[in-house]
Amino acid sequence: MSKKKKIVIVGGGINGLIAANYLSKDGFSVSIIEKKPIVGGACTFRTKKIGNQTIDFALGATVLGMMPDFIFQETGLSNNVEIFSPKHPKLVYFPDSNTSTRIYQNYKKLDQEIKNKWGEKGDLESFRNDEDKIIDFIRQGFKFGETPSLEKANAILGKTLTNLWMNGSAKNLLDHYFTSDKTKIYMGMTRIESGSSSMHNKGTAFTIPLMDSGSVFNGYWGYVKGGIWQITEEISKINKSLGVMFYMSSNINSIDTNRMKVTFEKEKKDYEIDYDYMIFATDPITPSKLLKNFKLEQELENKDYLGTSGKITAFFKNPVKWKESSPYKNSDSAFRFVFSNQTLNAFESSSQRVVNSSDDYAPSYVQIYAEGAAQRVLKNREPFDKLIFFIKNIKYNKTADQLPFIKEEVMNLIFKHIVNPEDCVSTEFLCPKDLNEIFYFPKGNIDHMALNENQNFNQRHFSKNVNKSFYLYGEYDNIYYCGAGAYPCGSVAGTAGYMCAKQLKRTVN
Ligand SMILES: Cc1cc2nc3c(=O)[nH]c(=O)nc-3n(C[C@H](O)[C@H](O)[C@H](O)COP(=O)(O)OP(=O)(O)OC[C@H]3O[C@@H](n4cnc5c(N)ncnc54)[C@H](O)[C@@H]3O)c2cc1C
Repeated sequence: MSKKKKIVIVGGGINGLIAANYLSKDGFSVSIIEKKPIVGGACTFRTKKIGNQTIDFALGATVLGMMPDFIFQETGLSNNVEIFSPKHPKLVYFPDSNTSTRIYQNYKKLDQEIKNKWGEKGDLESFRNDEDKIIDFIRQGFKFGETPSLEKANAILGKTLTNLWMNGSAKNLLDHYFTSDKTKIYMGMTRIESGSSSMHNKGTAFTIPLMDSGSVFNGYWGYVKGGIWQITEEISKINKSLGVMFYMSSNINSIDTNRMKVTFEKEKKDYEIDYDYMIFATDPITPSKLLKNFKLEQELENKDYLGTSGKITAFFKNPVKWKESSPYKNSDSAFRFVFSNQTLNAFESSSQRVVNSSDDYAPSYVQIYAEGAAQRVLKNREPFDKLIFFIKNIKYNKTADQLPFIKEEVMNLIFKHIVNPEDCVSTEFLCPKDLNEIFYFPKGNIDHMALNENQNFNQRHFSKNVNKSFYLYGEYDNIYYCGAGAYPCGSVAGTAGYMCAKQLKRTVN
């Protein structure tokens, strides 16, 4: 029997864990070296004491959305966690009305709604049909672990759709299908999901279908019973049962790429382990530092890592009651979006203000995740209700405790829609700078690297030999990178980890 090839994965976030899962099942001997004492990376939790009660809450990621269903099934996660995706229409509020626009899943109903509420005269049906084609194409690429390629997109989707959806600008895409600014703002908001990508930048159109490309909930987003960190905890347990070795609280001292050995310190003891292949599932810059490859480090520093998203978790002593009533079931679990801009130009300029001016915050929209209500649907009893406010356009240079006014502004904005704001008994607030300090994201971007020009789809890689593998790192031929900085992007998806594992296996066979 031939000896098992050894793989060392640096980083125990979702991507490292998924890569470990597939590679150990493919017959490799897999070890994970993780700097922190717990797995999960940005998909983890903290416990908070409020009065004499405690509650766990998601520190980073909150909702499950972009994971491909086949990963959810094949890893065994689907047997180990319970999930729920609100069927309630998403509710969207613009500044000129306290009544929401309902984003129905049925596009005919949605078409009527946006005609009535936003004066939309464009072609939602074509937008949805074309988007479905792009999403099918993206999902196929995920499944086969295929290098994203414009040539392939041209061949399958045709030149027009490829130019519009894959390498064009968000502005061009939105103008093609829609007439009203509100529709364009809503349909194109995900381009600033993690950073400050301008709607005029080429390649930003692709972020729109990308964010709907997960298939656990068929393009929608949802919750995990107990909290999203169950995903990383469960996959770790599964991996342990497959024989994956975990070295936690470990600091890498050196990597000898000639002898293929890595040395690290764990609990004051030194370790040295061999590898045939090494995979970094960290941010993209860390590997260049650990490899002491200064040239590559300098090259990588030139990319756009800027993150502009922040997060408030608000704890309520009684279930949140929304002012606007709804005829649908589980209405308190609906996703809500509260916009501060209602023209496309204002939305665009607020996204650029935190880059081009000294402003610390430029309000644009707040995404509300009703985590507590979803946990109630999942029959997880918790002592407090939880709302998460995912905020855009925060400048990178300061931590949350230096920016209390942002929290106040956001809470005032949201609390206008709530009957019982006085029940809010505590909050946790994080800005991009905090995310850098807690999770090591280079400039606080939740996708490790911005989804911006030249950093999306076929350009989202660090390989000098794409023909061999899209997931290779720099000029190395047995060192790979599969963190959130690689295609497709971050989000608790594990897709980059899966695709990297698939490509690595192919290069070995
Ligand atoms: C506030 C916030 C909200 C978010 N919301 C969502 C959401 O709702 N849904 C969603 O899908 N996604 C969300 N995301 C994004 C998502 O969490 C991340 O993109 C994803 O978790 C990245 O996974 P990863 O495995 O690539 O990297 P990470 O989770 O960053 O993991 C990298 C791991 O590498 C380790 N590491 C780093 N350096 C070293 C080193 N030198 N040696 C050893 N180990 C090292 C780190 O400790 C970490 O465990 C959110 C992120 C944040 C911060």
